[in-house]
Amino acid sequence: MTSRDTSSATAHRCTFIPPWLAERVDGPEAAERDEAVRRLRAQRGVEARASAAGGPPVAVATPVWTVHDAGSTTSLPGTPARGPGEPATGDVAVDEAADGIEATLQMFLEDLARSSHDGAGAPVSLTVHYGSDYNNAFWDGTQLVFGDGDGRVFERFTKPVDVLAHEFSHAVIEHTADLTYSGQSGALNESVADVFASCLKQRLLGQQAADGDWLIGQGIFMPSVQARALRDMAAPGTAYDDPEVGADPQVGHMDDYVVTTADNGGVHLNSGIPNKAFQLAALAVGGTAIGGAGRIWYDALVGGDVPRGANFATFAAATVAAAGEHAEAVREAWRQVGVEPGRRSVPASAPQPAGRLRVERSGGFAGRSEAAEVDLETSGLGALVSQAVAAPVAKDARPHPDMFVYTFTVEGREPVRVPEHLLTASQAELARQVLRRGTSEI
Ligand SMILES: [Zn+2]
Repeated sequence: MTSRDTSSATAHRCTFIPPWLAERVDGPEAAERDEAVRRLRAQRGVEARASAAGGPPVAVATPVWTVHDAGSTTSLPGTPARGPGEPATGDVAVDEAADGIEATLQMFLEDLARSSHDGAGAPVSLTVHYGSDYNNAFWDGTQLVFGDGDGRVFERFTKPVDVLAHEFSHAVIEHTADLTYSGQSGALNESVADVFASCLKQRLLGQQAADGDWLIGQGIFMPSVQARALRDMAAPGTAYDDPEVGADPQVGHMDDYVVTTADNGGVHLNSGIPNKAFQLAALAVGGTAIGGAGRIWYDALVGGDVPRGANFATFAAATVAAAGEHAEAVREAWRQVGVEPGRRSVPASAPQPAGRLRVERSGGFAGRSEAAEVDLETSGLGALVSQAVAAPVAKDARPHPDMFVYTFTVEGREPVRVPEHLLTASQAELARQVLRRGTSEI
């Protein structure tokens, strides 16, 4: 199991460039430095949210935005450079960010009747020229931030408008289903951000879904890099293949699901699976991507049927339920990537654990512990166990007062401890099934 604390988890959800690529381009020291910066930003985000929570929600139809210039420093938000109704500044990054946020806010408002990321018209703060040679873009919990790229591998991160829409969509997700950023729910978080990013790009180009190129981050790499884009929703794993940068490692089918503890459980790898499902659904539903399948995905996201720890099958079922007359087409799109809506999709490549599993629930108001054990060969729970223990666990996550802590111990492996509020859907289901079978108080 990898460890991650909650502050880095918050920050991770906002990062455009996957960690393996950042390390390859910038080196491990840069990745570490970025991590430290992200933690600070995340901390700041939490504080800002806490203070904002005191004020009454304000419903505004057209959200305002401000693009700031950090002047190649890392202090946020920087100097205000442009707001709504103001003319172009001549600074390419400032003007790209301004046009990008206008277009993104417009799409959410006009096509999805959503005002800003919080649905209540929150003003949007953006910063460009962040850091020096900074190879990333992120949402820090309060604002969007864009680096200029190093000019060697990466161009400026405001160049492809879908990067901005992707980061803004993370903010929308945070305010709606708030998908936990690890394992399958994390891959869904990444995928939904790509979905609205591609929808925005196609909307700006006046395209129908059938005409879309489904590329994410086209133009983000310098021309010298052998790449079409950073990701390809229609053909995951084919966006780039370069001697220095490496090859696009995304997968597009459950048969290829990557079980890993890196990248928060492969959130940028396995997001190719729901990405491909969306692309297929968009073609089947027809019309524009945002007006057709995009609307369905959005309704699923805000409809209340998607828990924070949703897996692919749970999310797929929510999209089928939201699809109305297109339900069968959407179901078929998911089936084509190996996901059966509503049924747990367990990675085929997951090693099946053997031996005994012990589940313990401790803590809670009454301070009692319960535990139960099952034999994995005879219980029929092997697949569920694989999924439940595959997700990375927040090692330093502090349990909430009076909430339970669950411990899953597969014979011969490290115990996996998860506070109740961080249980994934599969962990909750596993605990329920095992504790129901035979409970002994300890
Ligand atoms: Zn992302």
